[in-house]
Parts: sequence; C-alpha cells; structure tokens
Amino acid sequence: MNYSKNMKRYFSKYRIHLALVGIAILLIVTIAACSHHSEGTDVEALTTTPKTTEVVTEIVAQTDTSTVTPTTKPEPEYVSLGEFKLTAYCGCSKCCGVWGENRPVDSEGKTIVMTAGGYRAVEGITVAADTNVLPFGTKIYIDGHEYTVQDRGGAVNGNKIDIYFENHQDAWNFGVQYKEVFILKGSEPND
Ligand SMILES: [Zn+2]
Repeated sequence: MNYSKNMKRYFSKYRIHLALVGIAILLIVTIAACSHHSEGTDVEALTTTPKTTEVVTEIVAQTDTSTVTPTTKPEPEYVSLGEFKLTAYCGCSKCCGVWGENRPVDSEGKTIVMTAGGYRAVEGITVAADTNVLPFGTKIYIDGHEYTVQDRGGAVNGNKIDIYFENHQDAWNFGVQYKEVFILKGSEPND
C-alpha cells in the first residue's frame, strides 16, 4: 500500500515535469516556426525584388527598340501625260534665230542663255514646252530624269517638248524622239 502511494506521488510529480517539458518544446517549436517563416519571407523578398526590376528593364528595352523602327519614305507617284514629240535646241542663232545673236558671256566665257521664263538655261534641267499646257516651273519626267519647264517657243505647242543642250552638235544628235512624259501626281496640268 505504501509502495503504491509512493509510486503515485512519483508519477504525479513526473507528469508535471512532462507537462512542463512538453510546453517548453511547443514554445520552442512555435518560435522556431515563426522565425523560420519570417526568415522565409525575407529570403523571398530578397530574391523577388531584383527579379521584378529585371522584368521592368526588359520591357523598357523592348519598347525602346519598337519606337526606333525606321520610317520609310513613300514612293512618289507619277502620272503619264502620254507620248510627246521631243526635239532639242541650244542657244545659237540656228536654233533660236535673232534670240541667239549677241548673247552675253559669263566670267568663265560661257554663253548665258536666258529663257522666256526668266531662267538661265542649264543642260539636263531646262526644257521648253507649251506653257498653256505645262506652265513655267513644272517638273516633268522623261526616262526617269527630271526636267523643268523654263522656256517656250513658237513651234513648241501641244504634246511637244524642246530639250535644251549647251552644244549645237549635241542638240543636232538628239534629233527627234517620241517618248512618254510623266508628271508628279498632284501637279497635273488642268486642261
Ligand atoms: Zn543650236
């Protein structure tokens, strides 16, 4: 009987010990779990922050390249005026009659040929046309080359173009040709 009483006392004492130990373990575990959890979020925050900035810079870089796309110039549109009779002339009296006599000379000794439009004639640019059809300053295109209407002539009417050359021989060699003449869309003559 005494023995069992002692045992009971011993066990009850031991039970308190067990309970205290158990509480202590629980506390340690929860603290550890808490600290581990907070540690975990810290690590997560550290690793996710640079990741997001990386993504942002990547997006910025992408938008930058998309805005730098080169703009392409639209091709000019040409309108055909049909086939013209092309002749050539120079500033000499054979080509221009009395207008070709006593032309002034520039400092380089070149004959100054002033056109009816008030321009100094330049080979490769100056052409004479019927200014009722193509007014002075009109740009025309023959074989892809741009000329400007700067002159006119008594025999240059309708679908005729007289092309200016510096040299009489070059004008003679050109002879008479028939070619399609173009104009820029939007600057068509109103006939
Ligand atoms: Zn001539």
